[in-house]
Order: sequence, then C-alpha cells, then structure tokens
Amino acid sequence: MTINLDEERDKTLIEEIIELGGHDLVKCYQCGTCIADCPTGIADEPLSAKRIIHMIKLGLRDRLVEEQTPWMCVTCGGCEERCPRGAEPFEIILAVRRWQCREDETYIPLVLGEIYERGHTQNIVNASELRKSLDLPEVPPTVIDRPEYLERFRKMLRETKVVREYGYIFGIDEEE
Ligand code: SF4
Repeated sequence: MTINLDEERDKTLIEEIIELGGHDLVKCYQCGTCIADCPTGIADEPLSAKRIIHMIKLGLRDRLVEEQTPWMCVTCGGCEERCPRGAEPFEIILAVRRWQCREDETYIPLVLGEIYERGHTQNIVNASELRKSLDLPEVPPTVIDRPEYLERFRKMLRETKVVREYGYIFGIDEEE
C-alpha cells in the first residue's frame, strides 16, 4: 500500500480501536509474521493484519472504513499464535470490524451477502480436494452440509435490521 503522506491523519483512531478490543496493537512492530500462512493469502486481496495495524497507527480513518479485507478473516486464530509480540492481531481485526459498523451504521460489508447465501464468509467449494487429502469430509459439517440449518440461519438473519432494510443486497424480495 502506498501511503499518501498528505492524507489527513486522525490521531484518535488508535484509541478507538483499542477501546473496541484491539488492546495490544501498540505492541506490533510490523514484522509481518502474522501474514505467514494466513488462509486469506490465496484471495485476490488477502487480509494483512500488519497492514491494517499500520493504517490504524497512521490514523488513516477514511481508508480504514473502506477496507474490506478484515471481513476475509476466517477466525482461525493462527496469527495470534505466531505473533512474537503478543499483539493479538486477530482481536485487532475484530475490533476493526466493530469500528467500521459503528463508524457508519449503513456500512454493509460485501461479505454479508456471502454469509446469507452460504452461511460461511468464505467460498469453500474448491476446498474438497484439500479436505480429502487431510482426511476430512469433503464438505464440512456446518450449515453447508445441513440445508435445514442453513434455512434457519437465513431466517434468523432476515430478522436483523441490516437484512430487513437492505434485502435487495441479499436477493430477498420485499414480501418475503
Ligand atoms: Fe508482527 Fe504481531 Fe505485528 Fe503481525 S501483529 S506484524 S506478527 S508484531
């Protein structure tokens, strides 16, 4: 990421993210270990906790609110285990998600549509070969494998304000 040094920096941003759960982000010294082996590494635009933390420290508020990659996190927690500084990058990513939703109540991460459609944040249809090689069932035992649970999950989501008000994003007719 190229940082525009003329961009307005907001020094309160770091405090806001700490307040929302990113308690240890000041410990980060930008080593990049958290990126190694992150499952989002195969995505077109992978999540980089290192980069997100850098943005927070620079106070790039406008840029951070537009950032979609925190929603790529599959909550595996691998970055937490690898971080040599105990900065808890996973907690920081979750704090950023909370902050984005608080910052703009109309904020709808693109991934919400995926969650409604599949019950997962990630498309795992291409993972069956890898799962087999690891002696795992081709399809994980989640709502993907249990259509009745997926429908219950969608029903629950339809009760939420964001899905009710922006149903068109989720392919839901008004009368549904
Ligand atoms: Fe390194 Fe931890 Fe910072 Fe990631 S969060 S860049 S692993 S110090």
